[in-house]
Amino acid sequence: MDNTLIDVKDLKVHFFTDEGVVRAVDGVDLKLERGRTLSLVGESGCGKSVACRALMQIVRNPGKVVAGEILYNRGAEGGQAEIIDIAKMDPKGKEIRDIRGKEISMIFQEPMTSLSPMYTVGNQIIENILLHTNLTKEQARDLAIKLLDQVGIPRADRLVDEYPFRLSGGMRQRSMIAMALSCNPNLLIADEPTTALDVTTQANILDLMSDLQKSYNMTLLFITHDLGVVAEIADEVAVMYLGKIVEKSDVYTIFNSPRHPYTQALLKSIPKIAIKREDLDPIKGMVPNPFRRPGGCPFHPRCPQAFAECKVLVPTTTQLTPNHSVQCLLYENFANRIATEQKQ
Ligand code: SF4
Repeated sequence: MDNTLIDVKDLKVHFFTDEGVVRAVDGVDLKLERGRTLSLVGESGCGKSVACRALMQIVRNPGKVVAGEILYNRGAEGGQAEIIDIAKMDPKGKEIRDIRGKEISMIFQEPMTSLSPMYTVGNQIIENILLHTNLTKEQARDLAIKLLDQVGIPRADRLVDEYPFRLSGGMRQRSMIAMALSCNPNLLIADEPTTALDVTTQANILDLMSDLQKSYNMTLLFITHDLGVVAEIADEVAVMYLGKIVEKSDVYTIFNSPRHPYTQALLKSIPKIAIKREDLDPIKGMVPNPFRRPGGCPFHPRCPQAFAECKVLVPTTTQLTPNHSVQCLLYENFANRIATEQKQ
């Protein structure tokens, strides 16, 4: 697995509801390299958060990982590989509980609802440290103060004893980051960590995360719908639509030569200072109802470049260059598939 920390292969997460099955993640392939940042982008409801929750086996009921592999290399960097499949683990078992919060941590979207209002910020960080290390309570408290200080909380020795509701949105988010970093994780998953913050705080948090990533040499999986944030922080980008990765490449390629019509539309819809509201180019339509998934290419009802075959054929992955892949019939030689499917 060379420098790969996590290799996700054909991951499927389905939700079994009374109205039917929702295929929230429908065959995702992703590689997370050590010390790099991969940004998962797409509109709300396209399966980004569910895919990332699956990496920690914390998919909410009635969701289940139904297929695929999440191969995690637990071995030290440069040392002997020690590969385990997280997808096969019992979500309540000891094995994944040892990994969760220690080797793989997550910063959730809304810190006010992710931090318990019943305990001080310090207690919540200390609990995680005590659970995963052999430190004493006093050592854990010292470490919590050090982490809060490191993430830019002023007077950390006093604020460690504050309840979350006494802190501003930015400080709560910094506390969440401190908690996530408390056991020096190999992978930090950040689920839209700056969405609820004003732009100045957002910029500070992004700078902070970049600095911390470098000093801890962590792998960062950053979920966002904001392409401005992606340009700031990502090394690689994976664009997700209706449970599938439709385009994947390095950040420069995605911004300079996007190939998938959905990626192109996302980039066109970024507001710019000089553009008037009426000149904005939003993506037409909405993400389809998950119970009424369109046949063929899932993007075809909204795609400006759709053609007849898009309504019947599901695009497969085309490798344009070694590090640029796309799922779109515009780049696929699908003539053989039509012939085969007509015979069946
Ligand atoms: Fe558009 Fe067709 Fe490509 Fe889908 S396969 S993105 S509908 S051109």
